[in-house]
Formats: sequence, structure tokens, C-alpha cells
Amino acid sequence: MLGLMQSQPLLISSMIDFAERHHGEGEIVSRRVEGDIHRCTYKDIAGRSRQVANALDAMKLAFGDRVATLAWNGYRHLELYFGVSGSGRVLHTLNPRLHPDQIVWIANHSEDQVLCFDMTFLPIVKAVHARCTTIKHFIALCDAASLPADSGIPGLQSYEAWMGSQASKYTWPEFDENSASSMCYTSGTTGNPKAALYSHRSTILHAWAGAMPDALNMSARDSVLPVVPMFHVNAWGLPYSAAMTGAKMVFPGPAMDGKSIFDLIESENVTFAAGVPTVWQMMLGHMQQGGLRFSTLKRTVIGGSACPPAMIAAFNDDYGVEVLHAWGMTEMSPLGTVCTLKNKHTAMDASQKMAVRIKQGRGIYGVDMKIVDDLGAELPWDGKAFGDLLVKGPWVIREYFKGEGGSPLVNGWFPTGDVATIDPDGYLQITDRSKDVIKSGGEWISSIDVENIAMAHPAVAMAACIGMKHPKWDERPVVVVVKKPGAEVSREALLAFFEGKTAKWQIPDDVIFIDAIPLGATGKMQKVKLRETLKDYQLPTA
Ligand code: AMP
Repeated sequence: MLGLMQSQPLLISSMIDFAERHHGEGEIVSRRVEGDIHRCTYKDIAGRSRQVANALDAMKLAFGDRVATLAWNGYRHLELYFGVSGSGRVLHTLNPRLHPDQIVWIANHSEDQVLCFDMTFLPIVKAVHARCTTIKHFIALCDAASLPADSGIPGLQSYEAWMGSQASKYTWPEFDENSASSMCYTSGTTGNPKAALYSHRSTILHAWAGAMPDALNMSARDSVLPVVPMFHVNAWGLPYSAAMTGAKMVFPGPAMDGKSIFDLIESENVTFAAGVPTVWQMMLGHMQQGGLRFSTLKRTVIGGSACPPAMIAAFNDDYGVEVLHAWGMTEMSPLGTVCTLKNKHTAMDASQKMAVRIKQGRGIYGVDMKIVDDLGAELPWDGKAFGDLLVKGPWVIREYFKGEGGSPLVNGWFPTGDVATIDPDGYLQITDRSKDVIKSGGEWISSIDVENIAMAHPAVAMAACIGMKHPKWDERPVVVVVKKPGAEVSREALLAFFEGKTAKWQIPDDVIFIDAIPLGATGKMQKVKLRETLKDYQLPTA
């Protein structure tokens, strides 16, 4: 017997319809490429998203066709989020930090028909447009007056002229909620990049779960600053969760330096911000130098890479800001776990709470997870056993776009490539990417643990721990360190700093100081590149 409730497909258009009707005056504030601060409302965004939909119809773009963006976080990008997906096309957010050759490869692989780009990226578009063989329409996210006369890009139009002439009346189409809505290519450290293809259903369920109190806890009282780019896994679903809850949105545009981010938090009364650790590192540095304080910021979600405990402590102890340490991946839309306390933790003292907060957190409803040994047998949730982490759920991928790489699932579970422990309360702790784990004398050393200790030293700005071949122990850890500007620490002092903080055999054999650790297009440390750079390095003997 079927239930007798209305069957309404979960479509992205419903989120912007909701925001317009219930939070029409809700603010969307953007620092623009043009340099100024732009203000509009959900009502404006809704109307302009419908203009985008009409403009795509006028181009005769088919259902499911891909519309690519090369854009910062801003209101025009938000309009494309809703206008492109809402009208049944697929939003493909290209990562401008990739090499132009990779952008060409990805745009051709996804068969993009339209490319909408911020003027900042005009040089990239000039360099790649002739090789992007499927793109028929190039649209610069600016007004007609700002369009360069001699761009060399055939048929280049300004966004404002392209969509501005369209009606803001439009009836969003109804279709199967499992239809594709957006796509994002993974960084692809090995082989070609592969795309996660999200659906309307997966996007809505993910945004819904992400907004819950024990996840990102979003509400109409929030002012939300996604520093995480809208080209990286849909800015962790924040544009959707915000539309669902009516939260104010604050977009940083291209200005991601510590000062610009801090100033925006203060001027727009931001209560909740989201970003990777490297961004917050810059902002905390700026605040420490100037003796600055937050007036309104209450919490920040940090993920994408392990958040060093020293950063969680700095936010919490020095600035009274709660850090939500979160874990996820492109293949998971991306949210998997978020670290919030349970009732039993609230009476604990600060150091016990911190021991919980440094973990990557509990699974949110919708994501099931397990850890397994080399033979695939499930390991206990005892906080000690570590193994390969597998996940499943309605916003976890089943396969990659165009079936690239074959079926990734193992008995219905997606192998994340991460190694983790899970404690009896269900808190996940990532020990490593499986390829970064260091094997020393038959025991495993977590590179993240070593990095976290190094990062707690006041002179260390960034640390990467990698395994080096060792004749006796197989591998031994060394820690590669970037010092804070003007700060000093010697190799010996840093090694001594490890004493008492970890088992003796887990202390690195050496410290290598360098000017910068290579970061990938999504701000993660590129250990493969680092290993290449250090290929002639010899471990100290003795
Ligand atoms: P991406 O798909 O590019 O977002 O990368 C996902 C990967 O980033 C995960 O599989 C993890 O290896 C890593 N990652 C994400 N969040 C965290 C975190 N909080 N701690 C440690 N690693 C993380």
C-alpha cells in the first residue's frame, strides 16, 4: 500500500522560490571583482535567476546541457546556481586555480556549451577558448560597459546584457528529482580528473542535513560567509542551505586575504564562516598582528584538510569562536561528518572538550560509514582500530560522470581513500589519506598527528609530514616546515618540542625548512609534489 502524501520532486528551483516567498528581504552581499560592495535580496536573486533561465531557453540549450562557470563567490554566481539547475541544465563549476590545459581537458570532457566567467579570469579564457571545442557561448560576468572591445573571444557577451533583456517571469519546469543538477571534477592526484555529478535530490537532501543544528546549524538569524569557493563542491552546499533557511549571505569575491576577510566579517555582522585551514591561518595572522577582535562571529566550519588543534584552540580560547571541524569530499557533496559535542560532553573540562573537538566529528543523518581492515572486515568503533573508511548515502556518488574509472563501489560502499578511527560515540578521526600513511617498523604513523604537533609550535606556519625510505624501518617520518614570518626555531628545538607529546618512535627523524609547501587547486598540501622536490634528500644517519 502506498502512502497518501503528495509526491513532489525535490528540485533546486523550490529553494529559491522558498527564499523569495519567505525571506524576500534577506540580504545577499557581495564584494565584487569591480572592487565595490554589492547588495541585493533573495527576491532580486530569484527574479534574476529566472532571467538566466529565460536566457538559456533563448539559446535553445537542451535539458541536461552543461553550463560552466569560472567565477568567484558572488551574487551572479548564485543566480547561475539557481537559474542553470532550476531550468534543468547542469551547472559545471570549473576551478580557475587549475592549469589551463586541465581546464581545457575538463571543459571538453564535460562537453560544456556555455562558459560564464568573472573578468579576473579573462586571461585564462583567452588562453583556452579556442581549444574548448564544445563551448558555443562565452559570457563575461559584468555589464556591457565593462566588456573589453578587443577580447579576441568570438561572440563574447556581457552577463547583464545577456540576461538583463529577459523577462523575470518564468515557470520552473518540473522533472525527475534524480536529474543531474551540477557537477564538480575531483582534483585527480592520479590520472585524469573525474567528475561527481550531483542530482537535484542529492543536493536538497545534503543541504537539508547540512543545515541541521548538529551539522552547520544554519538559520534565518545567521549571516553566512562562505570563504570556501563556489567552484569547490558547491561551496559545501552553503548557498542551498542558506536559501532553505533564509540566512543572509556574504560573498568575498576575489579578496581572500586575511584583512579583506576580517573586514567583511566585521562590516556585515557575519555569525558563521566556512573555509579551509589555510584561509583561517592568514586571517588569524592578520588579527594577531593588529590585536583585532570579532564582534559577531560565533562559529566557523573548517574542513577540506585536517584542522590543526592549535587553530581550534586559537579560535576558541583567544576569540570565543566555536570551530566545527568537518570532513567530507567532492564525491560526498561534500559533507560527511561535523564535530559538535553531545550532551555528555558539556560538563567536561576544557581540555576534555578539546580532545573531542579536534576529531572530524559524527556522521550526520544520511551518511553511513564504516572502517575496514585490509581484507574488508569491519573494524570496531573503539577509537583505536584504524582502517579504510567507506561511506554510503543518498548524496554519495554511485559512479563518476561517463563511468570514468569503472564502478568505484565495494558492495555498495564508496571507499574514501582515507584511513580513520571511529570512537564508541561515533566520532570519526582521520589519520591519513591511505597513500600518505607512514609505515615504520611494521607500525603506522599518522602524518596528520605529526603535523598537528608541529603546528602547535608558535614559530610554525605550516607543516607537512612525509615518509622517507629507511633501510631498517622501511620508512621514517620527516616534517617539512614553513616558519611564520620573522619567527625562528631550530631543527633541534622543534624536534625537542615533540618530546612527551607523542611516542618516541613517532617523532620525526628530521626537520626540513622550506619557503613554501606546494598547495593544490583546493588549498590542500600536495605531498606528491613535495616528495618530488625532496627526491634527493637523505635521512640523517645515527
Ligand atoms: P576533496 O574532494 O578535494 O574535497 O578532498 C577530499 C579529501 O580531503 C578527503 O578524502 C580527505 O582526505 C581530505 N579532508 C577533507 N576534510 C578533512 C579533514 N577535516 N581532515 C582531514 N582530511 C580532510
